[in-house]
Amino acid sequence: MAAIAATLAGVLANLFYLSPLNPSPWLDITTLGFLAGVVVLDRGILQHGLLNRIPVVRDRVVEQLKDPVLVITHQGTIIDANQSALEAWTQDESGLLDKPIESLMTHLSLSSLVDQVDNAVVNINENTFEIASTPLDKGNPGSDIALVFRDVTERLRAERKLLTAKNDLETMAHTDALTNMFNRRFFMQRLNEEFERIRRHNSILSVLIFDLDHFKRVNDGNGHDVGDSVLIAVSNVANQVKRVTDVSCRSGGEEFALLLPETDKQGAIKLAHRLRHGIEDYPYADLLNIPLKVTASIGVATISKQSAQPENILKVADQALYEAKNGGRNMVCFSQA
Ligand code: GH3
Ligand code: MG
Ligand code: MG
Repeated sequence: MAAIAATLAGVLANLFYLSPLNPSPWLDITTLGFLAGVVVLDRGILQHGLLNRIPVVRDRVVEQLKDPVLVITHQGTIIDANQSALEAWTQDESGLLDKPIESLMTHLSLSSLVDQVDNAVVNINENTFEIASTPLDKGNPGSDIALVFRDVTERLRAERKLLTAKNDLETMAHTDALTNMFNRRFFMQRLNEEFERIRRHNSILSVLIFDLDHFKRVNDGNGHDVGDSVLIAVSNVANQVKRVTDVSCRSGGEEFALLLPETDKQGAIKLAHRLRHGIEDYPYADLLNIPLKVTASIGVATISKQSAQPENILKVADQALYEAKNGGRNMVCFSQA
């Protein structure tokens, strides 16, 4: 406003001097008009502190910032860049100014920057940045936008490493090292979750516990390594016969368990027979070059919401396994919980 008023003051004074209405043509008031303009302009500049504040803010804050800062127009043209931005992304100022912001960040849309984002994440060259964008004139929808980039590459790398380590630890905590099956701890955790489901929904659940027959003989006659290979082979058989939603685990030694959600007595017994045949028929000789006969005894138990003590399901399945062992081994027995 001051700039417009200052210009008009000079022009109007000159026009008035030239016009026939001027009562005193011997006095050129153009100079006075320009003088008035200078006073108006001066007041405007001083009132807004343009000569002192902005350069100080820019020099002391923006230029010293380690974070790259860009100013873009509403259309996305880069119109200003601090030293960090220039050092990070170009050799000289001409490499950034007047370029579209998309030339730096290919996968972030301009509109998401215009809509004042906090912590949008972009990749520029090898690094990852979080961007905070702020319109320079908040009331004006077409305002220029300041973008502050925080380099989070190292932080994200450290977070990813930590997450991988955490996942590895979690996997180790619920995996059996020999067979890569789940361990007893994870099995119990899943069993408790299934109990909750049975309580809430009217669902049904079966558990199958199986133990290799006379496994001590396999070890004693062929060595522990052969015994280990058999355990791995048996775990593969169990994983093949179960459904994707079933949970298989090595509960200890040569004993395994399967958790069969939404499976009734008939379904569980059918699967137990498939498993028993699978273990008996497995071509151990091809794998180990030793003629071997391996069988398993299997105990099956089923519970539903109506069961008196669902948490006893493992004891009941164990009881069924005991019956299978006593009944002559290599067989399937069922007990109702
Ligand atoms: P049963 O039919 O009554 O189950 O007889 P069994 O010989 O299988 O039972 P027992 O409990 O007497 O022996 C289990 C054997 O399992 C003893 C042990 O050497 C073997 N075993 C347990 N864990 C491992 C293992 O991690 N690797 C190997 N190779 N053998 C194991
Ligand atoms: Mg055994
Ligand atoms: Mg055993």
